[in-house]
Amino acid sequence: MISFEMTQQQKQMKEFIHYFAQYEVRPISMLSDKLERVPDEWLDKVNKMGVTLSTSAIGKDASGSSQKEKHEEANQDPEVKRQVNRLSVIAAEEMGWGDPAVALSLPGPGLGGPPVQGSGTPEQKKRFLGIFGKDKPRWGAYALTEPEAGSDVSGLRTTARKVDGGYVLNGQKVFITNGGRASWVVAFATVDPSLGRAGHRAFVVEQGTPGFSVSRLAHKMGMRASETAELVFEDCFVPDENLLGGEEYYEQRANGPSGFRVAMATFDTTRPVVAAMATGIARAAYETTLDYVKKEYPKHGRSYQMACEQLALMEQNIEASRLLTWEAAWKGDIGQPNAKEAAMCKAYAGKTGLDVCAACLELMGPVGVDGNLVEKLYRDVKVYDIFEGTNQIQHLIVARRLYDQEGLRI
Ligand SMILES: Cc1cc2nc3c(=O)[nH]c(=O)nc-3n(C[C@H](O)[C@H](O)[C@H](O)COP(=O)(O)OP(=O)(O)OC[C@H]3O[C@@H](n4cnc5c(N)ncnc54)[C@H](O)[C@@H]3O)c2cc1C
Repeated sequence: MISFEMTQQQKQMKEFIHYFAQYEVRPISMLSDKLERVPDEWLDKVNKMGVTLSTSAIGKDASGSSQKEKHEEANQDPEVKRQVNRLSVIAAEEMGWGDPAVALSLPGPGLGGPPVQGSGTPEQKKRFLGIFGKDKPRWGAYALTEPEAGSDVSGLRTTARKVDGGYVLNGQKVFITNGGRASWVVAFATVDPSLGRAGHRAFVVEQGTPGFSVSRLAHKMGMRASETAELVFEDCFVPDENLLGGEEYYEQRANGPSGFRVAMATFDTTRPVVAAMATGIARAAYETTLDYVKKEYPKHGRSYQMACEQLALMEQNIEASRLLTWEAAWKGDIGQPNAKEAAMCKAYAGKTGLDVCAACLELMGPVGVDGNLVEKLYRDVKVYDIFEGTNQIQHLIVARRLYDQEGLRI
């Protein structure tokens, strides 16, 4: 039975991350937005502190340990394992509250972590995940999206041609978070386009591999401090050892959509994390606006009453976003399928983030748009109903889960 009461461990972690978000993240938030990057000195500092963007948790590890220890402990400590998704969403909400773009810039495997953790061989996990939390900040990345394959990734066009000792990759990836500075990216490609999803494979491509380059860093409306890169693979040779899971992994799943499954499995873990960040953004905008309304609105007037009604509606939707997110995380923790819940919370929290930030901007009037935190959050939150699958796609996923069972094909 789900309980929304936080355990002692969860409370302690929430307090720690909130403190970090308030006193370490917020002070560099507006500057990083202006610079369109997080200052290097800050990244060095947090790397030394052991704060990372890890497989699923954002912020200092749930157990309060370093990144390297996290991977060892998550496998060993049953207490952490039992609640790793819950701990992740609690941490993500606080980091979204602090600054979502800075949060995505934290060193660590990022979105590249879950496919390596979930599908990699023991040797690959050690090789690719063992590099974080050491002498200098390092990043991993997840490269699925292409110019012609966003929502419908079954149409991906990057090819992987089998040659002696490995594969040759050709193609382009767009919108890849931390893709420009990543030590490695998990890149999805097809060995045979005629096989559709069954032809997909996931490769770990390391920085410096000949034929692998960064063609552009995007200048974005929001999330400016978070690096978003375009990547090119031109006759890029990737050795067999870098095929995620090894060839047997795909042979065993010859009847299923193999590499596609690797790509999708990531989302059931990461969508609740993204939803939690959107909830944190909404909460930050709400709190800033609440303070403003308390101080600046004339009390007892009709406009004050209207503002209070709007603020109450925001609080209600923020709470609903959090509860949906916690349900998805909880199901993940007890090992139940949570694709429907992960999609639901992502869609709901993304929409709530947009609605709350827009309403806050209106309540604050001209003050809200003049270099104010709410204006930045309004720009940042838009992508939360785009990446990890747009809202429309989340609704399709939910519909498939609900109505396919009744024999309807969607
Ligand atoms: C800041 C940022 C960071 C990102 N980071 C990463 C990353 O690290 N790695 C990565 O691989 N990708 C990343 N992405 C890409 C992101 O996942 C895609 O942008 C997203 O999946 C949508 O794809 P698209 O942009 O091609 O839109 P499209 O798929 O072209 O969709 C356009 C519109 O059509 C709608 N639509 C499409 N198909 C349907 C349908 N069947 N039914 C109803 N509506 C539909 C969509 O909902 C959307 O509104 C990032 C994107 C951004 C903006």
